[in-house]
Amino acid sequence: MMFKKHRCTKCSFIYNSEIGYPDGNIAPGTLFEELPEYWVCPLCGAAKKFFKEVDTNMNKYRCTACGYIYDPMNGDPDAGINAGTSFGDLPDDWECPLCGVGKDFFEEVTE
Ligand SMILES: [Zn+2]
Ligand SMILES: [Zn+2]
Repeated sequence: MMFKKHRCTKCSFIYNSEIGYPDGNIAPGTLFEELPEYWVCPLCGAAKKFFKEVDTNMNKYRCTACGYIYDPMNGDPDAGINAGTSFGDLPDDWECPLCGVGKDFFEEVTE
């Protein structure tokens, strides 16, 4: 059983299905999809539709054009990307900070 996490796109609150949300009577193991439709973000009150599944792939990605490495642990603060943002969670219009190519030019660093 894989427990997924969902992040509130408004305030970055993380709903972790493994933990649930006991303060809101959500039992541990409750999948995000199983939360009642009226459930809202405990921090900012945003509806479920504002939540996005967290990509837990924290591998680094290398720009094939210039060699820049995107490291999710660092993010890209100059572009407003918080540390902890996986490559898959980067906005589609994100560009290499060094040479400006798009995400398509990046390849996963697996070693
Ligand atoms: Zn929120
Ligand atoms: Zn580059």
